[in-house]
Amino acid sequence: MTSQSPDIKIPSETPIRAPSAVPVDDAVLPFEVASLDLRGRLTRLGPALDDVLTKHDYPPAVGKLLGEAIVLTTLLGSSLKFDGRFILQTQTDGPVSFLIVDFQAPDRLRAYARFDAKRLEDGLDSGALLGKGHLAMTIDQGPEMSRYQGLVPLEGNDLEHAAHEYFLRSEQIPTRVRLAVAEEFRGGENGGARRRWRAGGILLQFLPKSPERARQDLPPGDAPPGTEAQAPREDDAWVEGRSLVETVSDIELIDPALSSERLAYRLFHERGVRVFRAAAIQAQCSCSRQSVENMLQSFPQEDRDDMIENGKITVTCEFCSSTYVFAPAEIASPEPSAP
Ligand SMILES: [Zn+2]
Repeated sequence: MTSQSPDIKIPSETPIRAPSAVPVDDAVLPFEVASLDLRGRLTRLGPALDDVLTKHDYPPAVGKLLGEAIVLTTLLGSSLKFDGRFILQTQTDGPVSFLIVDFQAPDRLRAYARFDAKRLEDGLDSGALLGKGHLAMTIDQGPEMSRYQGLVPLEGNDLEHAAHEYFLRSEQIPTRVRLAVAEEFRGGENGGARRRWRAGGILLQFLPKSPERARQDLPPGDAPPGTEAQAPREDDAWVEGRSLVETVSDIELIDPALSSERLAYRLFHERGVRVFRAAAIQAQCSCSRQSVENMLQSFPQEDRDDMIENGKITVTCEFCSSTYVFAPAEIASPEPSAP
């Protein structure tokens, strides 16, 4: 841990409208269950997720895993204010060796994965696809603020598990996350079926006024053999909240006919749940011809010369697959003046 985490807790806001019955895709819906001191967010991703994943034509298992990382990033990054940036990255030894999701507040999302197609086998779950390594979450709130990075080891577990570990150890906020990603098949205009990616997720946190109630005992690290592990004492309100979230099925999270509001109500209606203003999410890369040109100009001339193929320098953005082509003279260093 390099510094104290900035606030990625869920702020309380003013409710502004009645629940919508109609599902809204590509949006994040904050909610609160005040009687249990719970706050959370629900997200549904449709076209934005499909756009990111189909640009790369990932094999289904890789698309699903990157989709899970996108849902998790959306749930966490959407609490950032102003022009903050939340970056989730994994580096691991499994078939999917690298994932990155870059969320730029308030609403821009981009992502890509690196994988070894030869090592992809049927039936590998997310934990096996990742393998061992670590997950890093970086929060950048602009030049005035210090950058924060939290690291979580990945040891063959999935991203939900990694998120729980992160919040238990780094933030000490009782947290539950559920992520679901699937491909749906829809009839196309000319009778052909078209596959589309859909995803959903929920984040629930226990934020009581008294910090004592949120305490979770960490498992003992160096307890001598024979020591009885003490079961962590959890607050009843939190046990109730997390038990409800643990019952959410993947189908409920991705169901295109079930709105986030209805799902929140389905889960928490007995305790009373308030929803807040939903925030839209879009898939949009931040690359530009100018930013690529600036990057090339920062390289030594020698490196740029190595990049010339057929008289051109071609750069492809790994996030969005946009291609930028330059004539070497466009980005040559100025001639050094004669001594
Ligand atoms: Zn791009």
